[in-house]
Amino acid sequence: MKRKVIIIGGGISGMTAGIYLQKAGFDTVILEKNAVPGGECTGWKREGFVIDNCFHWLTGTKEGSDLNELWKEIGMLGGDVDIYHKDEFYSYTSDGKTVTFWRDLERTKAELLELAPEDRENIEAFIENVRKVESMTVPVEKPFDKMGLKDYVKMGASMKDIPAVQKAYKGMSIDDLANTFKNPVIRRALCLMIPPKSPAFSFIASYATITAGNGDIPLGGSLAASLRIASKYESLGGKLVKNAPVKEILIEGDIAKGAVLENGETIEGDYVIAATDAGHIFTKLLPESYMPKSLGREFKSGNYSVFSGFHAAFAVDGEHRFGQESEFFDAEEMMVAGTKVNIFGIKCYDYDRSFAPEGKSVIQVQIVQSENDYEYWRSLRDSSPEEYNKKKHELADEIRERIEKSFPEVAGKLRLLDTWTPATYQRYCNAYNGAYMAFVADKNVKSVRTKGTVKRLKNVFLAGQWLMGQGGLPVAAAMGRFAAWRIADKEKVSL
Ligand SMILES: Cc1cc2nc3c(=O)[nH]c(=O)nc-3n(C[C@H](O)[C@H](O)[C@H](O)COP(=O)(O)OP(=O)(O)OC[C@H]3O[C@@H](n4cnc5c(N)ncnc54)[C@H](O)[C@@H]3O)c2cc1C
Repeated sequence: MKRKVIIIGGGISGMTAGIYLQKAGFDTVILEKNAVPGGECTGWKREGFVIDNCFHWLTGTKEGSDLNELWKEIGMLGGDVDIYHKDEFYSYTSDGKTVTFWRDLERTKAELLELAPEDRENIEAFIENVRKVESMTVPVEKPFDKMGLKDYVKMGASMKDIPAVQKAYKGMSIDDLANTFKNPVIRRALCLMIPPKSPAFSFIASYATITAGNGDIPLGGSLAASLRIASKYESLGGKLVKNAPVKEILIEGDIAKGAVLENGETIEGDYVIAATDAGHIFTKLLPESYMPKSLGREFKSGNYSVFSGFHAAFAVDGEHRFGQESEFFDAEEMMVAGTKVNIFGIKCYDYDRSFAPEGKSVIQVQIVQSENDYEYWRSLRDSSPEEYNKKKHELADEIRERIEKSFPEVAGKLRLLDTWTPATYQRYCNAYNGAYMAFVADKNVKSVRTKGTVKRLKNVFLAGQWLMGQGGLPVAAAMGRFAAWRIADKEKVSL
């Protein structure tokens, strides 16, 4: 008889696990709390516009890597999915001076040198290091603790220049990297896309993904991608149960018997994969005492932080490109919860014409929010939903005014479509402190990897982005595949 696997959570990680297990001959069921699969990788419609909530870049869009193969196997890429090739990572304009991190590194270099000849040496080293990191790959074949010498040799060969670059930025945050430049616009520009306390190497690696042509965007958006993956899973015989929030994992001794839904129903199985937010797993689905030590270090030490966002999406009357796809500009300072903001980023979605009716555009502004901001939003929403809504709209109005001042050509043409906050991520995905990425390492604390097994529970495995710092779609998918790999390995089947 086929072995049955219960997967809790129909995000990218849970669905990836489900697809590989179905292919390997298991009988799987995904229990997803929401009416739509995809979790954080989602989007929604408002007044004929699509609001895309995830894709800024998808690592692994370039042909030839194991990650690219994985994306094709699960339906994220491949088939008739067209890809938008990003021209740039992002740009920042201040006082008429623009820094753009172009896909074309030579162009970035030339423009930076023209802007800041005083930083020549530093600019050249930065560009060279980005170039060296372009070969970086994400291993997705098998769990790291199961990799052998041969696997490491294969990985090492493709990434031979990378250790030297990691060493060059050891102990440095993005902030520190920025401060090595004399030019103030470059200094500020470096701190805008990735939280500035993150290791400097994470900026180099993210930008290198774009310059390598390995971080483009599948057209159709995040929700369409999640629905493609869900239908791939179902086409393989997987059972996706929506509106099925799980209350707890049912344990007898050192064995999980299945999952109990919030409505009291019990679904039994031979294995359980918990593919939700890790904080949720170990406060709700399993007793906290089962939390692996590595995760415990992140959750309990107080040294690891997470971030989230306050978002406002606007319809624009007319197709206005705002210069580039992701453009940052200076504007009058304002407070968003407890965070002061004086640089604002607009993401313009004109690259995907399916997101807006003809002759119109949709844009989003996202303000990074900390854990303290999460507390603010959560308590405001819980104490007074009316005040919460009012505050969101007031802030969106303030943001709209700043956009209109900086881009007078759109004055009177912006209409608010929606706003959402860290409390939204908590409500929708049970996200710890409203975070939509995993813990952020900084120069003082290392990024942590968690194995995906649960001590004392032989048939429960973990998946999801929280198993490897800083999370993101490739990590979510890899961890889903690794959970499937461990079960297949136990049953002596190959994936
Ligand atoms: C604004 C934004 C921008 C982003 N940009 C990028 C980007 O450009 N590139 C990138 O790589 N990543 C990006 N990410 C991150 C990416 O979306 C996540 O890393 C990824 O989607 C996480 O997948 P997951 O499956 O690990 O977790 P989740 O998406 O959280 O999936 C967990 C699933 O479990 C479900 N669930 C929770 N509790 C229960 C329960 N009790 N019972 C049943 N189901 C439950 C949830 O509803 C959810 O569907 C972005 C995210 C956001 C929000």
